[in-house]
Amino acid sequence: MSLEREPLPSTLGIAWRQGADHLRQAGVEEADADAELLLLYLLGISKAELLRDLRERFPVAKADAWLELLERRVNGVPVQYIIGEQYFFGRAFEVSESVLIPRPETELLAEAVLEVADRLWPDQAAPPVVLDVGTGSGILAVTLAAERPWWRVIASDLSPDAIGMARRNAQKQEVASRITFVKGDLLTPFLAGDEYPSIDVLVSNPPYIPSSDISGLQREVRDHEPRLALDGGEDGLNPYRIMAGQLSLMPVLPRVVAWEVGAGQADDVATLLRDAEVWDEIRFVKDYAGIDRHVIAVK
Ligand code: GLN
Repeated sequence: MSLEREPLPSTLGIAWRQGADHLRQAGVEEADADAELLLLYLLGISKAELLRDLRERFPVAKADAWLELLERRVNGVPVQYIIGEQYFFGRAFEVSESVLIPRPETELLAEAVLEVADRLWPDQAAPPVVLDVGTGSGILAVTLAAERPWWRVIASDLSPDAIGMARRNAQKQEVASRITFVKGDLLTPFLAGDEYPSIDVLVSNPPYIPSSDISGLQREVRDHEPRLALDGGEDGLNPYRIMAGQLSLMPVLPRVVAWEVGAGQADDVATLLRDAEVWDEIRFVKDYAGIDRHVIAVK
């Protein structure tokens, strides 16, 4: 049953239900949640307003736009790219197809960094310098700068479009003046020693999908998220291998390394870190599925 053959939705509640049915029939997994996000976006209202106004008339003038939004989702565009937004750590971040969509498990990386750095740098007068490599939409750098206004934060990315998006998100959260944005590859900009302060905490959620696995990803990811943000080379470990090699070339070794990793990669990444340096502690943080998702090394 296609939506076009149904009568125009008479109320917001009916539009929501019809939209969700349409997405579900097209095989969209989160049909209810996606229909809700699209409807809020279409109408420019909050969820509370939608729930309050379920029996209000659906605006006829919005009918075509509603069908268009649903069709884009049916055609595999992730809902976050359609509405241009994803929440992370309680804040709305702008996203586009030039940056990865923030994932909920990455919030656990931000949490781990806050916890370990609070322990190592308890004095607000002597804060850490934190570098977020491959910042993408800026979620990690912006979250850390917003949660700990006294930290110094640097955000880097190879993609100028990503840097632009991260800067916009920093401006929205009013932390842009406290973040230094750097265009460059992994740790390369930070090896010289004179341009930037020495890095105390190195955070990254680098691309970690093995190149040959990309074609088998969900079409939403494969066809819409930037390959630069996904492709970690032949075994997916290239960014970790390169950064571990670059660690010893840094003017001062960071005391904390906190990296998100792909499923099954935590042991290999820990080995790369141990080969590069002696750490007091290397531990893993599990994601919501119980997979070792973050590697935290402390010295
Ligand atoms: N740091 C961003 C995030 O965690 C981007 C990561 C990436 O593009 N690999 O979402």
